[in-house]
Amino acid sequence: MLSQLRVKPGHAAGLEARDPADRLGVDRERDFGDDLAELRTLQDRLWAERRRSLLVVLQGTDAAGKDSTIRHVFTGINPHGCRVEDFAQPSTTELAHDYLWRVHARCPARGQIGIWNRSHYEDVIAVRVRSLVPAKVWRRRFRHICEFERMLAEEGTTIVKILLHISRKEQGARLRARLADPAKQWKFRPEDIEDRQRFGQIEAAYEEALTKTSTTWAPWYVVPADRRWVRNAAVTRLLLQALRDIDPQFPDVTIDLDTFTVD
Ligand code: ADP
Repeated sequence: MLSQLRVKPGHAAGLEARDPADRLGVDRERDFGDDLAELRTLQDRLWAERRRSLLVVLQGTDAAGKDSTIRHVFTGINPHGCRVEDFAQPSTTELAHDYLWRVHARCPARGQIGIWNRSHYEDVIAVRVRSLVPAKVWRRRFRHICEFERMLAEEGTTIVKILLHISRKEQGARLRARLADPAKQWKFRPEDIEDRQRFGQIEAAYEEALTKTSTTWAPWYVVPADRRWVRNAAVTRLLLQALRDIDPQFPDVTIDLDTFTVD
C-alpha cells in the first residue's frame, strides 16, 4: 500500500492521476488497533533511546483533515515524547528572519516525534498562490528545502512528508458542513473561500513542490483523503513503517541491578 503513495525521487508527483477517493484496498470495518498499539510501543522505545527523532510533515488544503488525522494517529501516544506544531501566518518576528528559522526552532528533539500541521512548504505554496514573494524567491527555496532536510536527516531525524489529497468536491462538502455546524463554525475563515477559488492553482503548486522535493532522505507520500478511514489507516501505516525502520532500542542498563533491592 505504501509504495504506491510514495512520490519517487526524480519523478513527477502526478497528482492528477491519483484518485483522492482511492480505498487502497483498505476494509472500512477492519480494526487498526493493532497498528496503533505497535506505534505506541515503538514510540516508547524512541523516547527511551533519545538518539533519533521522527518528523512528520502534514500538508493539505483547508478541510483536508490535518487536525483530525493528528487526533487519530496520536490517540494514546505518550504526550511526553510527542509535539504537535502548527504553522500559521508568520508573525512579524518570524518574517524578520529567513523562512526556515521558525521551522528549525520547532524540529523534534532526539527521542521525540514531531508532527507539523503545515510547515515550511507554505513558503513555496501559500506564498506562491497568494503572490507574497516574487517567483524567483520561492523557486530557489526548493533547493534550500532539500538541503535543509538532508542536514536534518544526516543528524538523526527521519522525515516523512504527507500530502492529504482531497478532491475539490469533497472539500466543498466539508466546508459547507463546517458552516452549518455550530460545533465547527469556529474553524471557518473567510480565506477558506478565497483558497477554494484557487484550488487548481494550489494543486499545481503542490505538483511542482512534491516533484522537486521528494528525496530519498525526505520522501513525499500522497495520501488519498476523501475517505477518512482510508486516510487514517494510511497515515498510521506510514508512521509505523518509519518507526520500524528506525528500530529504536531501550538503552543498555549500565548499572548493576543485582546490587539494588526495593523494600
Ligand atoms: P489551518 O487552516 O491549518 O487549520 P489556520 O486556520 O490557522 O490553520 O490557517 C493557517 C493559514 O496560514 C493558512 O491559510 C496557511 O496558508 C497560512 N500560512 C501558513 N504558513 C504560511 C507562510 N509561511 N506564509 C503565508 N501563509 C502561511
